[in-house]
Amino acid sequence: MARTVIIEEFGGPETMQIVDRPVGDPGPGEIRIRHEFAGLNFIDVYQRTGLYPNDLPLTLGMEAAGIVEAVGEGVNHLSPGDRAAYASMPPGAYCEARVMPAAQVMKLPDGIGADTAAAMMLQGLTVQYLFHRTTPIQKGDTVLFHAAAGGVGLIACQWARSEGINLIGTAGTDEKCQLALDHGASHCINYRQEDFAAKVRELTGGKGVDVVMDSVGADTFEGSLDSLKPLGMMISFGNASGPVPPLNIGILGQKGSLKITRPTLFTHIADHHTCQAMANHLFEKVEKGDVAINISQRFTLDDIRAAHETLEARKTTGSTIIEI
Ligand code: NDP
Repeated sequence: MARTVIIEEFGGPETMQIVDRPVGDPGPGEIRIRHEFAGLNFIDVYQRTGLYPNDLPLTLGMEAAGIVEAVGEGVNHLSPGDRAAYASMPPGAYCEARVMPAAQVMKLPDGIGADTAAAMMLQGLTVQYLFHRTTPIQKGDTVLFHAAAGGVGLIACQWARSEGINLIGTAGTDEKCQLALDHGASHCINYRQEDFAAKVRELTGGKGVDVVMDSVGADTFEGSLDSLKPLGMMISFGNASGPVPPLNIGILGQKGSLKITRPTLFTHIADHHTCQAMANHLFEKVEKGDVAINISQRFTLDDIRAAHETLEARKTTGSTIIEI
């Protein structure tokens, strides 16, 4: 049996409850993993509210680290006793143990602890695909990155610095802006106090940026388009402030032949070998010290409601983990 967080209806943090659930044995292509830590991600909020559709009842959580207990037929990259971590679909990480597909579960290098791994798989693999698999970004290019002091944000600031990319961040307080600067952002705009698109124009000598990485959604979408250079690329990859309203694509022409994409991590990591290559790149960045994983908040499974409330209230910085 495993203590497991489930929801039986979509809604607020109060919908999450802990139940005991049988775990079972892995079938072909599956493993059973005992979790030490799960990662907390904003996507968990979208799953809980039903913004991203799933069947009910649902166990939340897209990321965790722990010890492999058993492997099913055809699983060759993991063995019982391995330290491992994953970001994967379907959700189900907020629990003591689970049976799950093995393809996205990665064996951990000795130098990376389980807490760090649980904090970095989903957010770090996201930064990997944003900078290397979405649009060509060269050394010296300038990227505008919203919510730069968040979990994905602080990894992005450091990743950009290590690649020689200028990252202009935005964040909701001056303290968060300072944190983004300390992690490698070249500038950071407090977008609750300043018109960020106007400030971006000023910072880039009127030109605009090459790429915008926007996970805030409704509140920032328009300003993000206004921050781009002609032919610039808008990467809309989240909706922390609400979904982006329907787009009249003619706007992209009027604003200078802009490009737009709406990626998700789970398309990029669907293939095991690609996922492994992306994870190796992330492990290398962390082991070299180019990227440090900031675990700024720790909660327990019993505190899961408080964890969600804190994240949604914009009171977190960096990454957050759940101790199992
Ligand atoms: P964060 O730690 O970045 O938390 C979200 C941040 O968004 C907040 O701290 C806050 O920072 C900012 N924000 C702006 N407006 C709001 C609002 N109205 N309500 C709440 N927060 C707001 O979360 P994660 O690092 O987990 O994820 C960052 C984003 O990236 C999320 O939108 C997530 O869905 C997306 N994502 C997308 C993926 C993909 O593949 N498409 C994969 C992984 C993440 P501030 O106060 O500074 O504004």
